[in-house]
Amino acid sequence: MSREHPFISCVIPAYNEAENIPLFIPALAKNLSELGVSYEMIVIDDGSKDNTIASLQPLLAHYPLKVLALSRNFGKEAAITAGLDHVNGDIALLIDADFQHPISAIKTMLDLWRSGYDMVYGIRDRNTESNLKQWLTRNFYWLLNKSSSIDIPADAGDFRLMDKQVVLALRNLPERTRYMKGLYAWVGFHSIGVHFTEAPRLKGESNFNWQRLTSLALTGLTAFSDLPLRICVFLGAAIALLALAYGIYITGETLVDGVQQPGWATLAAGMMLLGGIQLLFIGVLGEYIARIYNETKGRPKYIVARQYDKEHNIAPRNL
Ligand code: UDP
Ligand code: MG
Repeated sequence: MSREHPFISCVIPAYNEAENIPLFIPALAKNLSELGVSYEMIVIDDGSKDNTIASLQPLLAHYPLKVLALSRNFGKEAAITAGLDHVNGDIALLIDADFQHPISAIKTMLDLWRSGYDMVYGIRDRNTESNLKQWLTRNFYWLLNKSSSIDIPADAGDFRLMDKQVVLALRNLPERTRYMKGLYAWVGFHSIGVHFTEAPRLKGESNFNWQRLTSLALTGLTAFSDLPLRICVFLGAAIALLALAYGIYITGETLVDGVQQPGWATLAAGMMLLGGIQLLFIGVLGEYIARIYNETKGRPKYIVARQYDKEHNIAPRNL
């Protein structure tokens, strides 16, 4: 391998991208040819419900393309993991199938790799998103970085180029809870970010709604930080101390000043407060236990149902 002419493996997760991917593959191939590099493209069909796989069929003969069809929708993180497990190149390039990641940025990334960086990640400018989403995202990254020992760069997504060494390191992480943004940062290496402006999706809609984003954020927090557990400990201790102080105070009042304590209102409020806090903390514990449970089950991170390439064409299935 030479730094001048590396072999690049492109990892392209695709879920219901039948309208985008037949256009995306030729566009990416053209760009890579112009850059004078050799390449392979690995599309991971993440259990699409549309014709994503069929739409790739005519391309198999013309491009160095491999399609991994997962047995169901495992989610983007698992699809990327599957792709990275199957790459052969000196470098892996992760890129979305919907034209949101600018193909034109690959040259800059490649040049940075050539100059010695192991990982080059795209940082997206979020100008097009709502103020609320930008605010929430900013605070999420702030919290995540404050509470975990690794530095997870804000707004750095999956659009990135990485050296084979980084890919091998990622493959060696056995965990099933795959918060990729955290894992990229966890493995370390000599990394640098490049800014890019995210284009609108060519066709279709984003698969990440608020619910999925919240769940991803929770996964990230519980997988990379034990801050929520610490908060429980400190808040629990603070409330216990307060209760103790208050207890001493009213006992004093009764014994010394002979005050009759009308107690039920404070009792009821106290009980409700404590009950709520306890439930919340049990929930936090539950989140972590659920993670442990998932890890110990040891299920595979994804299942490849079928693989297609030039030799193994996509044949219609007769059931
Ligand atoms: N994707 C996937 N599995 C999923 C959801 C998304 O492989 O369960 C792929 C999708 O086809 C696209 C990329 O991940 O190539 C990013 O998804 P999307 O565009 O829906 O999200 P956004 O760009 O809004 O973050
Ligand atoms: Mg997208």
